Amino acid sequence: MHELAIVEALIEQVDRELHRAGQTGRVVELNLAVGRLSGVHSGSLRFAFELLSPGSVVEGAAMNISEPPATCRCRDCGHSEPIDELAAQCPSCGSGNIVIEGGRELTLDSIELEPNES
Ligand SMILES: [Zn+2]
Repeated sequence: MHELAIVEALIEQVDRELHRAGQTGRVVELNLAVGRLSGVHSGSLRFAFELLSPGSVVEGAAMNISEPPATCRCRDCGHSEPIDELAAQCPSCGSGNIVIEGGRELTLDSIELEPNES
């Protein structure tokens, strides 16, 4: 499963970020952006996370996934609208002269740590 490798890389990234920031606190929340056209299934991502997080730096953390849509912009009529699936034609005028923007990102937006109570 593709998503396992993604989550593995994600956990490594969190580990590195914490190290760089000199943080030792517990991770309570991860915020991810997974574009609707990224081909990554957020349900599988959660499943992989459940599988891999025990014993890692993100054990017990909640994973929040936002799914930003892509935008289809038409070069002919100037129409622009968010899309959930890859489009081949402008939804407004039917022209094939379109640009698909965004929606493919797979990024770790932020890491929330348990507040230090020292
Ligand atoms: Zn158009």
